[in-house]
Parts: sequence; C-alpha cells; structure tokens
Amino acid sequence: MKIKYLGTAAYEGVPSLFCKCEVCQRARARGGRNIRTRSQAIINDELLMDFPPDTVWHSIQYGLDWTRISDCLITHSHSDHLYPEDVEMAGSCYTNGHRFYRFYSWKDGYDRLSSIIEKDHMEGAASVTLIEPGKSFQAGDRGQYQVLPLWANHDTASSPVIYSVSCEGKRILYAHDTGVFPENTWKGLREEGRYDLVSLDCTGCLGNGQDWRDGHMSFGTNLEMRDRMYQEGLIDDKTVIVINHFSHNSIQGYDEMRPWAEKYGILTSYDGMEIEI
Ligand SMILES: [Zn+2]
Ligand SMILES: [Zn+2]
Ligand SMILES: [Zn+2]
Repeated sequence: MKIKYLGTAAYEGVPSLFCKCEVCQRARARGGRNIRTRSQAIINDELLMDFPPDTVWHSIQYGLDWTRISDCLITHSHSDHLYPEDVEMAGSCYTNGHRFYRFYSWKDGYDRLSSIIEKDHMEGAASVTLIEPGKSFQAGDRGQYQVLPLWANHDTASSPVIYSVSCEGKRILYAHDTGVFPENTWKGLREEGRYDLVSLDCTGCLGNGQDWRDGHMSFGTNLEMRDRMYQEGLIDDKTVIVINHFSHNSIQGYDEMRPWAEKYGILTSYDGMEIEI
C-alpha cells in the first residue's frame, strides 16, 4: 500500500497569500519542502483523500492518472479539503469523456457535492455517497478498500470524520482535521486493530504556548496521541507516524519541524512525499 502526500498545508497554504509573517517569508526565500499546498493525498494512485482547490495544480504537478483514480474520500466540508465547484469540471461542459468517479462524504460535504453532481451536465460523471462515522463501507473498483470513518474533533458544522483505510493486509489512519480523538473514535480504532501508518494533524506545529487539543493538534498533542495508541496496541515500533496539515500561523516551517520530529522517529510531511508500507 502506498500513500503520496499531494498537499500538506492548512487552509492558507504556505506561504499564505498576502502574508508577511516569518514562516511565509522564509518559505518564499527557501522554497523546496517549505512550500505547501492545501491538504490532499492519494493511496495506490487510485484512492483520493479530499478534493481541495489545489487539486488542479496537484494533477498538473504530479501527473495524476484520472483513468486510474476511482474514488475520493472527503474528510469534511472546509474548503481546504472540499472545493465542490471544481468537481463540476467532470461535467460534459468541461471535459470530453472520462471514467466515473465516486465521492464519499458525511452530511455537509454530501449536501455540497450533491448540489453539483445533480446538475444535468453531470449525468454519468460522478456520484456521492452519504457516509456516517462508525459505519464501514467498501471503496475502489473491486471493493478492495475497507473504509471506516470515525468521529473527528473538529468544527461540527463541517461534518468531520477521520478515515481508517485497509487494503492488502495493510492499514492507514488518515486523521485530518482533528484535535484529540473523542472516546467513541478510540473505541472504533480498537475494533480495527493495528495500524501500519498514522497521519496526524499538526496544524499548530510546536504549539507556541497554546493548548492544541480541540479542532486541531500540535506536536505535543501528537506525542500524547502516539503514546496512547501504543498503550491501546494500535501501533508498534514498525508503524510509520507522519505529522501533516501545517499552518503558517506558527513559528515553524518544514526546516524547523523536521529535526524535532526526527528525534521521535516521526516523519514530517511535505508536498510530494511518498511512503510505501
Ligand atoms: Zn484543514
Ligand atoms: Zn504567514
Ligand atoms: Zn478543517
């Protein structure tokens, strides 16, 4: 099972438009891994995680093969994770033939996607399925992905979930955006079993004196989560832990986060990072 991070920033990207903060200025000067687009990932080149406004750029930058991509799991309806206006590009007004795409989302994202997918020129282009936390389903052309959405600790108006994705005997937890997991999510995770890769929300970077428990996390809360996952038997020394979804509203960019994360054997995500598990 392979995961590729296409975008690794929070809503504003890094550098953020208009912004003159230290992180953004450093990112502009240094470039490379300090530049981040809005969050999106792809599993095995065929299962998309989220559909942000940077999907067009990711498609160009990484040469995404839209004949292979079949399904897209939406974590929540915030615009840095779901930009439904661009899903309409699958309609007959904007494209000349393509395969059928399946989207999955909880309430708010489902409503937003439905309003686009129900348009006349979208007939035969795409579908959206209403999912619910705690209820697993299968995705992929051969139903090869077993997917369990679980409750995220994030803006409830955005109908947020995190995803447990299993395939070929491997399992990934994609936890964006969320603060410290609610107890019903821990229960769901225990029922799933061991994870090969865990991707954790690190919007607050090193925390900078703030308490990052609700809505989003920072590196300190990520370590707490890692410790509890060990205790619960959800991860072991072979599990790959990735921190991801960074905001410029902190003092740290990629170059500052990486040495901290490395001390704990944790990977700091960057746009284009690929991990085979
Ligand atoms: Zn976000
Ligand atoms: Zn900035
Ligand atoms: Zn969000």
